[in-house]
Amino acid sequence: MSKVIFTDQDLESWVQSRKDHLVKMLLEMVAIPSENKPPNGNELPMQKYLEKALTELDFDTEQYALSEVVGLRTHQAFWGDRNYTDRPNLYASKKGKGVGKSLLFAVHADVVPGIPGKTAEDPFQPVIIGDRLYGRGSNDMKGGVAATLLAFQYLQEKGIHLLGDLSFESVVDEEMGGANGTLAGRVRGNRADAAIVPEPSNLRVCASHMGGAAWRITVRGKGGMGFGGEDLRNPVYGMAHLVRAIESYQNDMQKRKGFITPTGESQSPAVVLSMIGAGSFEPGMADGIPETCMIEIWVECLPGESFAALESEFIGAIRSVSSLPELAGLEVDWELITRFLPGSRAETPLTNILLQQAEEEWGMPVGAYTAPFACDAFMFNCYSDTPAVILGPVGENAHAPDEFVDIESLIKLTKIYITAIVEWCGVESWR
Ligand SMILES: [Zn+2]
Repeated sequence: MSKVIFTDQDLESWVQSRKDHLVKMLLEMVAIPSENKPPNGNELPMQKYLEKALTELDFDTEQYALSEVVGLRTHQAFWGDRNYTDRPNLYASKKGKGVGKSLLFAVHADVVPGIPGKTAEDPFQPVIIGDRLYGRGSNDMKGGVAATLLAFQYLQEKGIHLLGDLSFESVVDEEMGGANGTLAGRVRGNRADAAIVPEPSNLRVCASHMGGAAWRITVRGKGGMGFGGEDLRNPVYGMAHLVRAIESYQNDMQKRKGFITPTGESQSPAVVLSMIGAGSFEPGMADGIPETCMIEIWVECLPGESFAALESEFIGAIRSVSSLPELAGLEVDWELITRFLPGSRAETPLTNILLQQAEEEWGMPVGAYTAPFACDAFMFNCYSDTPAVILGPVGENAHAPDEFVDIESLIKLTKIYITAIVEWCGVESWR
């Protein structure tokens, strides 16, 4: 089989010399507001940007609508009711020159809605401070996309002909649609011997990842002012019971479901109470009881736990609190707003290849991790024969204000990708 055909120094100096280009691509991509705002999303300009870049890198490209994918909507893993008009997936591929393993880079084009931060006041006007590039999507996941494009550019510039096929997929509606875009690629038959998902993993190789689901829980009472002695019921007090129950669910669940990472830190699934609202801050509303109180909550679970298991555990806890006498006269209901389930594990020798390259960059053994977040890799691992490993850059504040990616980690990531592509796909020749 092939062996690596460049020296570490060659690779290092080539990637370092393209740092400005890497940053330029990332600035351009972050400036594209490819926001996912259910039921709609604005991924199209990002797909066009990527299609142009990949065409210049000699890939065959095609955009396709999710509505064209036969069998998608009836698939057991399809979820929700989003609008996919003008939201195509992009698929790009380059045929190998012989017999070698195929590799797919699987990215998502969408970002969560932009939130102004202290640094990037306009989240789509990226800002560089020191080695950090701030802006919505810089970390999740346009940084990883920029590293992927630069890795492809290396292969093209060096005239490296891979034996196996190399492909790239950019899907829509990953962030909030429960990964229907990723499912579309699998149902359509865009397969490979393995896939890399460049979600921001802090340069950790993650062969498995958490699953999770988000619910909106509403407590309805009887609002207004009791001028006529009406029997009013304040839903906020009912919600307070639910919030305390959620806190104890979290404490109990994290004791049961923790595990130890390769570097000895303990890790457990997250429970995030992200939104709470009741009443109105309008003038003159201070003396009225609100009709409803609402929360949104994200609940994670370990790789392999099914939706049914998570639902019966979490919603079971909500249900038992709703029937307490303290909540008499209040109505409690819940609605699933997204889900990434189950969390999954990839069985592939690509993990070891990536680990070897990543450990070179770390300068020490780091081991394979479980990504402490949910993402679309489960669509590969559970519903296709393409196992997907997660490896992406270092950064912080994904989905929050002041999201940033560490530029130096993108340089390291590009080197890891290049070496892994060559090792995995094999090489015929180079100029
Ligand atoms: Zn992501």
